[in-house]
Amino acid sequence: MKFGKEISMFKSAFPAALLAIVFGFGLGSIPGLNSHLHWNLWYVIPISGVLFGIVVGGIQFGYCFLTNQFATKLLIVYLACATLLGYLAVDYGIYNSARINLSNVEGIDDGEHKLRDLISFWEYIKMNNGSSSVETRHGTNIMEIGALGSTISYIADLMGAALGTVGVVLVCKGKYPFCLPCQKYKKREQAFSIQFKYEQLLADQIFTGIRERIVHGSYTDLMQNLNELAIIHQDSKGDMIIDVDQRFCPMCYEATILGNVQHRKGKDWQEADDLKFAFTSQPGAHFEVPKPE
Ligand SMILES: [Zn+2]
Repeated sequence: MKFGKEISMFKSAFPAALLAIVFGFGLGSIPGLNSHLHWNLWYVIPISGVLFGIVVGGIQFGYCFLTNQFATKLLIVYLACATLLGYLAVDYGIYNSARINLSNVEGIDDGEHKLRDLISFWEYIKMNNGSSSVETRHGTNIMEIGALGSTISYIADLMGAALGTVGVVLVCKGKYPFCLPCQKYKKREQAFSIQFKYEQLLADQIFTGIRERIVHGSYTDLMQNLNELAIIHQDSKGDMIIDVDQRFCPMCYEATILGNVQHRKGKDWQEADDLKFAFTSQPGAHFEVPKPE
């Protein structure tokens, strides 16, 4: 079949997409949360949209990780679309659970009514985007934006949600190496850190040593080197940390070693992206793991 591969991908990732929608619907059904969703800062930066996208993307990637589905470009687009539907499901959850009090409305009894008995979902969305107001803490209206502004802000939220998902899935893809031939995520064997006080000479020596072993392609050498460095450099007050993550494919035992580097500037730890490294071995590397002395 022409699109056989794509169709089977859509099928196997369907539960991940469904999770996004169920999560959105559940979120929208929580009473009192409505006013915090669609929260745009200055109506441009879609905070709640991005947050929603990040959380939902994390849930969806978690499902893909557990079921060994590789995050191809197509899968990422698929998950981002599911996040969009999930975001609409939030509104549907709100619409479905909202109740309003009516009095003196022609043709309708006084009292509490379910919103869904009064208007359709589409009308609700239109009403929501008709106008929205900015209120101060004391409930005074300070500004009102019209239909166009609300619609733009809603679209910004949707885009933010999709981008949040794409971003978080890409970050996870970098953190969780995948063995393509076996179609399996690699499992962590060990994680350890190397911490030292930054000095140009020492840092050069350490990172040149690591880089040379990566260029030579020797898994054993590299692991031995990293294990030794972890024994020598354990200065808990050091301002540079190399976090080493060693993972294996559970089927062919191909190894991936990821090294993330953080440097403390003042009080803040910053990622040193130019120093981070990654190494993938030949299959079977598990059986030559040198143990630290
Ligand atoms: Zn493998």
